[in-house]
Amino acid sequence: MRIFVPKELHPTERRVPLLPSGTAKLARLATQIEVEQGLGSAINCEDSLYEKAGAKISSDRAGSLAAADIVLRVWKPPLHEVDLLKKGCIHASFLDPFNERELVLRLATAEVTAVSMEMIPRTAVAQKMDVLSSQANLSGYVAVLLAAASANRIFPMLITPAGTIKPLRVFVIGVGVAGLQAIATARRLGATVEAFDTRPVVEEQVKSLGAKFVKADLGETGETVGGYAKPLTTEQLQKQREVMAQHVAQADVVITAAQVFGRKAPIIVTTEMVRQMRPGSVVVDTAMETGGNVECSQYDEEAEVHGVRIISHANLPGRVAANASEMYSNNMSAFVEHFWDKGAKRFSLNLTNEVLKGCVITHAGKICNETIRAAYG
Ligand code: NAD
Repeated sequence: MRIFVPKELHPTERRVPLLPSGTAKLARLATQIEVEQGLGSAINCEDSLYEKAGAKISSDRAGSLAAADIVLRVWKPPLHEVDLLKKGCIHASFLDPFNERELVLRLATAEVTAVSMEMIPRTAVAQKMDVLSSQANLSGYVAVLLAAASANRIFPMLITPAGTIKPLRVFVIGVGVAGLQAIATARRLGATVEAFDTRPVVEEQVKSLGAKFVKADLGETGETVGGYAKPLTTEQLQKQREVMAQHVAQADVVITAAQVFGRKAPIIVTTEMVRQMRPGSVVVDTAMETGGNVECSQYDEEAEVHGVRIISHANLPGRVAANASEMYSNNMSAFVEHFWDKGAKRFSLNLTNEVLKGCVITHAGKICNETIRAAYG
């Protein structure tokens, strides 16, 4: 089988889907692994390192896409490249299948087996391939550093002859993987942290990081069997905003990381709530890729509302591209290795396997994923 790893096309993307370490692992499995010339240049990873790891360097992107049995990348493929892919090949990347109907249909028509890495089930066996966790973790870290760089105050308490500086107050809304890392990072910097999530199981995790869990009686909330938050009703969301408002107003930094799988992110912090914050405070909205949690967030921008800095950058993991690539590359090589049939020397595409059932979206000319079929009606 031939594996090909093309360079990312998105102009601001610095993450690399496969590093030489991952290449070496896959080179031991595949009959041939090719990477596009300059694949790792954004993170100073030379072609020669890929060659040493066992890859061929390709300067013919279209030709290599057409010849590959497996294509690995970070971003979803652009429509024009779908038609280049070989019938029956496996294409693994982020895919955003809930919102990319046209692309998914095109992948099905082209008879590509499209794997959506964000649809990998959050189970123990699939943890090593879990790109959502590996990237969200870094996103939480970056969010705190962006806030620290923008705030006009420091995070820790300082007692000096010139006076005592109080610790900065951080409020984290949404405590999944990104939110937990945001809490841990803010605590390491010395801030006082409060946090809220609709899943009650999170309370213990928040406390174990030395933060306070904010209580809000929203009625029935909880999580799906997959471990994701259930969406709130309009009334519950309104009630949540009322409770959040007091905590947002008292915070120096608010970090939002609330998501509902497969849906637009809920708007939790309204512009009116931002207006109640002290000028000089900072809000970082990490949920921009799915629409954002803050009413006045603007995609991939920074803005100022009533003296409060609103930071809404997209692709936060891309800001620490070396580590994000390392994690993503480990996820991708683990994915291929896990399903590799060493005897037959090929990827074993058993669609009754729970992990593949969750993440394979199109196969043999059809949309085979039940969740996506249901979402498309
Ligand atoms: P996510 O990105 O889907 O959502 C982020 C957080 O937002 C979640 O904690 C969710 O409960 C919360 N949220 C949703 N609506 C909210 C609202 N209105 N207000 C406040 N918070 C709200 O979550 P994730 O980080 O991808 O994690 C999803 C789940 O998967 C978690 O339960 C996590 O522990 C679990 N997980 C399991 C594994 C594993 O077992 N392998 C690995 C990673 C994550």
